[in-house]
Amino acid sequence: MTDKKAQSQQRLDGIVAKAKRDIEERGHSYRGQALKMYPWICGRCAREFVNSNLQELTVHHKNHDHDYNPSDGSNWELLCIYCHDNEHQRHTEELLNKGIALDGAKAPGATFNPFADLKSMMGDKDSGQDSEK
Ligand SMILES: [Zn+2]
Ligand SMILES: [Zn+2]
Repeated sequence: MTDKKAQSQQRLDGIVAKAKRDIEERGHSYRGQALKMYPWICGRCAREFVNSNLQELTVHHKNHDHDYNPSDGSNWELLCIYCHDNEHQRHTEELLNKGIALDGAKAPGATFNPFADLKSMMGDKDSGQDSEK
């Protein structure tokens, strides 16, 4: 491995870490509210959570719109990371089946680009990117 390569890897790690931080901070207000409002149990597999593993419990938006956060919590559902992934995958597949591609990387026939997500995170911070991913 060359120094140059190590350096750019380091830079990339820094960018990814910052992007994750931004996403977490943006997500904080509704996550905190949802965790106060609901018991810490996954709505799908009924796994229970405590402080030490709470980071594996996510706040899912039932209508998949992260900007829709009514204060009565009606759009929130607590899901563990696994069930949450499943839920989003199912949703993505539903959209694909209807012929709507969520983003270029997932469109049938598009060239796979592992940095597509990263690029959109860096380029367009306020576009309402999925903050729970
Ligand atoms: Zn679960
Ligand atoms: Zn979700």
